[in-house]
Formats: sequence, structure tokens, C-alpha cells
Amino acid sequence: MTCKTFSGMISSFLSGTLEDDSLREFLEHYDKCENCREEVEIQYLVSRAFDHRKEKEVINLSRDLPALVEKERSSMVFRSRLGYTAYTLEILTILLVLMTVFIFLR
Ligand SMILES: [Zn+2]
Repeated sequence: MTCKTFSGMISSFLSGTLEDDSLREFLEHYDKCENCREEVEIQYLVSRAFDHRKEKEVINLSRDLPALVEKERSSMVFRSRLGYTAYTLEILTILLVLMTVFIFLR
């Protein structure tokens, strides 16, 4: 991912609306590009400053932003495990149906 693409995705990231594939690429770039991490910090501060629901909260950048990034990262890992489990269950269900059909047709 280029820094330009990354920059265009920051607001979606901060609002939590990135799809898993995009989120994975976004976080990979976030981990290795310091300039873009700074860009995320700036946009994060701006978005928090204009978020009136959180008006009275004190913004602690060194705590809040890493927490947000880790939350997004772990929910992405969770969703991909969930997807894998669903896929496995689907295969097992098909096998079970096939076995049932096979037993009844003998
Ligand atoms: Zn970058």
C-alpha cells in the first residue's frame, strides 16, 4: 500500500468502517511507516476534537490511539477466526448430509 492510499483510508479507519482486507493492509502499513502513523495521530486528534459526545473526556494520545489500533487489530483477528470456524462447520454439515444420504440409500 502506498502512503497516498493509506492517507485516504484514515478517516474510515477511525470510524471503524474498513473491511477486513483493507484493514489488514492498512495496519501493515501503519506498523512500518512512521510518517503515516503521525498522519493517523493528527487525524485522530482532529476527529476527537470535533466529536462532541466525547467533549468532556481528556484525550491521551499515547494511550487512546494505540488502544484503538489494538482493538481494530484484535477484532479483525477474531472475525477471521470466526470465518474459518463457520467454513469448517459448513464442510462438516455437508459431510454429515452426505453420510446420512449414503446410509439411507444402502
Ligand atoms: Zn506511509
